[in-house]
Amino acid sequence: MIGARVDTAAVRRAAGAVEDPEIRRSLGELGMVGDVDVDRRGRVRISVTLTTPTCPLREEIRAAVDAAVRGVPGVTDAEVGFGALDASGRTALAARLRAEDPGAFGPGGALGIGTGGPDAAGAPRVYAVGSGKGGVGKSTVTANLAAALALDGLRVGVLDADVWGYSIPRAFGVNRAPVALAGLMFPVEAHGVRLMSVGFLVGEDEPVVWRGPMLHKAIAQFCSDVYWGGLDVLLVDLPPGTGDVTLSLMELLPSAALLAVTTPQPAARGVAVRVGRLAASSGMPVAGVVENMTDLACDGCGARTPMFGSGGGAALAEALDAPLLGAVPLDLPLRVGGDTGVPAVIGAPGAPSAAELRRIAAALPSVRRSLVGVPLPLSVT
Ligand code: ADP
Repeated sequence: MIGARVDTAAVRRAAGAVEDPEIRRSLGELGMVGDVDVDRRGRVRISVTLTTPTCPLREEIRAAVDAAVRGVPGVTDAEVGFGALDASGRTALAARLRAEDPGAFGPGGALGIGTGGPDAAGAPRVYAVGSGKGGVGKSTVTANLAAALALDGLRVGVLDADVWGYSIPRAFGVNRAPVALAGLMFPVEAHGVRLMSVGFLVGEDEPVVWRGPMLHKAIAQFCSDVYWGGLDVLLVDLPPGTGDVTLSLMELLPSAALLAVTTPQPAARGVAVRVGRLAASSGMPVAGVVENMTDLACDGCGARTPMFGSGGGAALAEALDAPLLGAVPLDLPLRVGGDTGVPAVIGAPGAPSAAELRRIAAALPSVRRSLVGVPLPLSVT
């Protein structure tokens, strides 16, 4: 039987309305919808251009285009084929994206400067999450705050700059190379959060061998060449301590405010004070302090044991003249979530740690740096 006549333009419009999940623009706007062919039986063959033939989101795009096309009246079947941009097409698209969204690029780019300064309307809030030493839960706090903010409906990115101890890919249960387009890198999305991590670039279990200038350059590229596609909040997971990378980032993120994570232990608090002072010396305000591993609740009787002592968070907050934003207890769901790739605020929202992290995320203060007297970095090459 011959079905109703299919409007080819309607098929093209339906496919064109599908959003490219990486670039976050519609396929039509990007000029990615190619030939459309409809036979007399209402069977559609449509070709979609990908940024790269190895696009990891090919199946996702296929499913979305297939569903959109099948929704057009008269369509009885759909077959989605793929082509890919050639080198010059990729360069042209990258140039177009940079031109259309100049605020996202340049030194600091989406992170502040490119949009006309950290106070520019539409610039995301940027938090650099730092700690004095490793193992205090900085990455766990970063991942869960990000997931909590995404649950609250915000567009959230995490830049994992913990070069040697990156753990964001694992915390979100993803590890694949980000798509790159003529010098632009697209974040990898998981649990509603856009992620960019050193771990995506070097592969699991491989050591990061960058040093000195190369390291600085890689970090600078992270800050300028990632196409975030519009964010409300960016969390930057700093390496622990006050090393070169931390210092570089504090300079490269002129609109960031520090979130200092510590355990209650005097030793952790002592080294965290140094990070806070380093931030202050580069003009970065301190948004607040998160105390982690505050105490352990007994499953049986509910008694709270302060495993790592008490008072570290409050003392750090006082030393940095910043608010204590919350105290996250030790519990199993938070650790398990970190190992299984589902942040506890999503996978175990009833856990005391998760509830506290959601509360902290909802109340994160918006702190802007005063630019008075602060030299802006002129070049990051
Ligand atoms: P850092 O980034 O400071 O090095 P991580 O976030 O990697 O620390 O945390 C170290 C380990 O401690 C991880 O296994 C993490 O799951 C666990 N952890 C962190 N905070 C808590 C907590 N409040 N309760 C239980 N486990 C936690």
